[in-house]
Amino acid sequence: MKKIEHIGIAVKDLETSNELFASLFGKKHYKIEAVESEGVMTSFFKAGPNKIELLQATNDDSPIAKFIEKKGEGIHHIAFAVSNIEKEIKRLKSEGFRMIHDQPKKGADNKLIAFLHPKATNGVLIELCQEIKD
Ligand code: ZN
Repeated sequence: MKKIEHIGIAVKDLETSNELFASLFGKKHYKIEAVESEGVMTSFFKAGPNKIELLQATNDDSPIAKFIEKKGEGIHHIAFAVSNIEKEIKRLKSEGFRMIHDQPKKGADNKLIAFLHPKATNGVLIELCQEIKD
């Protein structure tokens, strides 16, 4: 794993939180993107070299809806950049980690992503992401 790519924060209302984080960082989000497969609407902020992803559920079955129901709003996941996501999934599985996604899928912001099961990582939801090169 190379570095923290972004931190994901679960929010109830993206519009309200976009304003909040714009005030916090002193600049607006640079992107809003829906990820249909995860049932989320996302927005992205940059703070210096760091990236924050806000996630709002778009339906009741969304993992974000379930997370907020259980834990409330707050830090949802930490994403790490990897150069070869398939290799990294294989390596982690061979180390005994449980994956939520055994195969990479298309995520927001031009990434292939896969989540590890938080039960295997001290309750921290970890996302792997690899930049899609076009
Ligand atoms: Zn993410």
